[in-house]
Amino acid sequence: MKKLQSVRGMHDVLPPETALWREMEQRIVAAVEAYGYQEIRLPIVEHTELFARSIGEVTDIVEKEMYTFRDRNGDSLSLRPEGTAGCVRAGIQHGFLHNRQQRLWYAGPMFRHERPQKGRYRQFHQIGVEAFGMAGPDVDAEQILLCRRIWEVLGIQGLRLEINSLGDLPDRRAYRERLVAHLREHRDALDAEALRRLETNPLRILDSKNPALRPVIEAAPAFHEFLSKAARDHYEGLKRLLDEAGVAYVQNPRLVRGLDYYNRTVFEWVTDRLGAQGTVCAGGRYDGLVEQLGGRSTPAAGFAIGLERVAELLPDWDAETLASPDAYLVAVGAEAERFSRGLAERLRDQVPGLRLVANCGDGSFKAQFKRADRSGAALALVVGEEEAARGMVTLKPLRGSGEQVQLDESALVAELRTRVHARRRENTE
Ligand code: ATP
Ligand code: MG
Repeated sequence: MKKLQSVRGMHDVLPPETALWREMEQRIVAAVEAYGYQEIRLPIVEHTELFARSIGEVTDIVEKEMYTFRDRNGDSLSLRPEGTAGCVRAGIQHGFLHNRQQRLWYAGPMFRHERPQKGRYRQFHQIGVEAFGMAGPDVDAEQILLCRRIWEVLGIQGLRLEINSLGDLPDRRAYRERLVAHLREHRDALDAEALRRLETNPLRILDSKNPALRPVIEAAPAFHEFLSKAARDHYEGLKRLLDEAGVAYVQNPRLVRGLDYYNRTVFEWVTDRLGAQGTVCAGGRYDGLVEQLGGRSTPAAGFAIGLERVAELLPDWDAETLASPDAYLVAVGAEAERFSRGLAERLRDQVPGLRLVANCGDGSFKAQFKRADRSGAALALVVGEEEAARGMVTLKPLRGSGEQVQLDESALVAELRTRVHARRRENTE
């Protein structure tokens, strides 16, 4: 029989790796919540129409990357390829966008049928934020500062911030005409996809990943000359706020993003350490989307972070130590086992955050110590018949140096509190 495997491009995350993921996610969420964003949990499956109407019919995502299927009622459903569409759908459905400001964040798996490679998967994970009801560049700047804080708390250095403005709809129409004229002049240099896009969605061509198109794209007219006064002021305002906050950025006039709903501000955080998959975070403004999906016109801005790519950039946190228990409780003999069962629960009650594995399945001292060692625990807590009779526990360090000591229960609690606290801090410094 053929061995069962996970679906191509969809990966398990195993311990101790999961501990790194958890640490990364907790730090990001803490940063996001420091700006008052609140969590929203959204379905993984939505009506296909939602993505076609928001991301755009003529985008890579909707044309060829979505996991689309009919359910048993015959409805066309899709696994979400991103989080913004669902968030806006929820906002309209529950009426929480109207006449007020909202700051929301979400996290979870996204699905795109792309060619799997390092940093590009078919199931991947994002943490994203969306802000509604704020039209000015101040919230764009806030989100960029929030990103900066995230890189800071994760200890990631060397990311480059690229920004651009896509203007508003009339600006884009005017630009589109000029762009199409330019691309027509260089028809011969376009690939099949670009030729098709020329008729359907020419701006997409600027986002082409085909290196052969680079020269034509480089030579294309820049968006800037087409910006309306309002869009230009917005962009200038954003740059002023970034300067004021000491955030370095590069203006990239070719930055268009792979989704159709963006207007005005777009930005990406890019690294040179991940090859072609260098964008770790992308976002911008999408003032037209709420109305486009049937709600009342509402300004909005957001970004999404690709967690697999960020995980590649994390400093050397010690996964083994992050994932391992603090202590392993060894007990030999009927009386010792009885005592240690109660002890384990009392320690978990009294030592905040303690990770304690209590031995299950009997075994000699030797066998239990072997398990303790394999568990990765920092300490063994040992109860033999003699200790049980006196209500004492032997604490024996399993890693590094340190003498073993016999403690009564209250001294043990105090000792564990100190060690657990110190250990959490050490692992990620
Ligand atoms: P790319 O240009 O790399 O294809 P994108 O423009 O399609 O990215 P977005 O839809 O804006 O990306 O998603 C935001 C972030 O999510 C990206 O910057 C990236 O970090 C991550 N991401 C997108 N697609 C994938 C994928 N298939 N696998 C892993 N991460 C991804
Ligand atoms: Mg993509």
